Amino acid sequence: MITWLEGKIIEKKQWCADLYSLKIKTESLNFVAGQFVNIGLDYNDAKIQKPYSLVNSPNDEFLEIHLNTVKDGTFSPLLTGLAVGDTIYVSDKPNGLLTLKEVPEKATDLWLFATGTGIGPFISILNTDEPWSRFERIMLCYSAKTAEEMAYREDFKILQKRYPDKFHFVPFITRQVSTDAIHSRITTFLRSGALECHIGTALTPEDSHVMLCGNSAMITEVSELLQEKGLQLHSRREAGQISTEKYF
Ligand SMILES: Cc1cc2nc3c(=O)[nH]c(=O)nc-3n(C[C@H](O)[C@H](O)[C@H](O)COP(=O)(O)OP(=O)(O)OC[C@H]3O[C@@H](n4cnc5c(N)ncnc54)[C@H](O)[C@@H]3O)c2cc1C
Repeated sequence: MITWLEGKIIEKKQWCADLYSLKIKTESLNFVAGQFVNIGLDYNDAKIQKPYSLVNSPNDEFLEIHLNTVKDGTFSPLLTGLAVGDTIYVSDKPNGLLTLKEVPEKATDLWLFATGTGIGPFISILNTDEPWSRFERIMLCYSAKTAEEMAYREDFKILQKRYPDKFHFVPFITRQVSTDAIHSRITTFLRSGALECHIGTALTPEDSHVMLCGNSAMITEVSELLQEKGLQLHSRREAGQISTEKYF
């Protein structure tokens, strides 16, 4: 049985036609960076809900989610149709294993791969101190269809300035040619070895832990490529180097 925290939308940012971030004020909620919550809405005399990752870091005094309006979707059009001041509900039990707590200690290199709104949990993680004190190198590979759909890019520029030797941000724009992003699918770049060349770091089972978030096609394909390189899926029962969270 879910206990709902009642919240209010305090900020709504529209990145482009169908892409939004919502800041929500609720009573305080403990979670680990990388986790998701169920978001609830009152609709036709019932509560309807869907899971969304928290983008904010656990120290922030608000919650933030990042989502797109899925065409013909049931829930996301209602959510992105909300305005500042509207009521929204947040489950009081955050969930999910895409967190640094789940990453085995031996990894020195953290590789993060996100498509679209799957960037959310990584923003939360990167805005905490832990990854920066714990890993020697952090590689963020973030893919969007167009430049305007690449949300939070300014945040990564700030992190690049703060951690120039440690942080490697690799943006991929798939449906446009752009001067400051790679025009390729992540999987194509990874398969050819171009990603490791571009960054100058080998992705090895000995040193790396990889976190994947977003659409299942990317996650399945990247997982298969990584397994060919000797990495294994990570679970609590069996330690490996690949952690995943599929949105759809
Ligand atoms: C653990 C978890 C965390 C999630 N976190 C987020 C998040 O932070 N942000 C977010 O936008 N979504 C997230 N999702 C997906 C989200 O819960 C909804 O499924 C999504 O908003 C679509 O809901 P809908 O009811 O409008 O469409 P639905 O009727 O559920 O789905 C219609 C179709 O939309 C497609 N779809 C679903 N999600 C997406 C998406 N994100 N982008 C593009 N197409 C999609 C699928 O192909 C699906 O068949 C998460 C899902 C899971 C399981």
